[in-house]
Amino acid sequence: MIGNMGRHKKRFGQHFLHDQHVLQQITAAINPQAHETIIEIGPGAGALTRHLLPNLNQLTVIELDRDLVPGLNKLAASSDCELAIINQDVLEVDFKTLVPATNSLLRIVGNLPYNISTPVIFKCLESSDIIQEMIFLLQKEVVDRLTAAPGNKSYGRLSVMTQYHCQTEYLLDVSPEAFTPPPRVDSALVKLKPHDTPLDLLEHKTLQTVVRNAFSQRRKTITNSLKTLISISEIEALKINPKLRPEQLSVEQFVDLSNHVSTTKNVD
Ligand code: SAM
Repeated sequence: MIGNMGRHKKRFGQHFLHDQHVLQQITAAINPQAHETIIEIGPGAGALTRHLLPNLNQLTVIELDRDLVPGLNKLAASSDCELAIINQDVLEVDFKTLVPATNSLLRIVGNLPYNISTPVIFKCLESSDIIQEMIFLLQKEVVDRLTAAPGNKSYGRLSVMTQYHCQTEYLLDVSPEAFTPPPRVDSALVKLKPHDTPLDLLEHKTLQTVVRNAFSQRRKTITNSLKTLISISEIEALKINPKLRPEQLSVEQFVDLSNHVSTTKNVD
């Protein structure tokens, strides 16, 4: 094991996986292929990294904690795979610089620090044109929200904004005992795959505004919560029932509302 295993830094969300069965399940879900461009966020002490390395020619890891870098360097020295270690905050890394000369798309994986998982996901969504797929271990509640369908109590802003960009798939549950130290919440593995053909959207920022307003008061009808943006007759003209509440609308319907607002209002 890499040094420093005994001291876990809470501020970096360090919960290291030790359950080999779970690590094998995650590796099987990732199914790494030698030629792929895989980026692992938050390798920590290398629990998942050492499962990925034997299958790959090249792997890039992004780890913020510099105390973990010597251990990762040792891991690199003992492997035939070329391991590139970026000692930086993932939120500051420009993913475009990680796209290889062959222009192949990125597969981004990781047992994410739960305190920054939503910003990491939003950052990835912004780069969805250069990403083939993401497989993340996250707080179960977040995975529920990412994968929720309309009508589900977890369906909300995160579901709509993620599903506009990606197909989402709930892969498996991971219990707290699989980690050292165990987190206080359940975890789950999720796959996010950017759509080959995204829905036609005129303005991303308008979709953000519409979705934010709609879900700001979940129990209000969309007529009520969107009244500054769109009228009841305009909603009806889009063939959407104006009495619906936001959790009853599909992603396509949010895109229709947003495209209409884009043509009639100047949204900041
Ligand atoms: N992959 C390891 C495992 O499964 O045992 C560690 C996972 S641990 C939940 C999250 C890792 O992300 C930690 O190693 C932590 O230091 C690192 N980390 C935290 N914040 C980060 C950030 N902003 N950028 C990059 N890495 C970060």
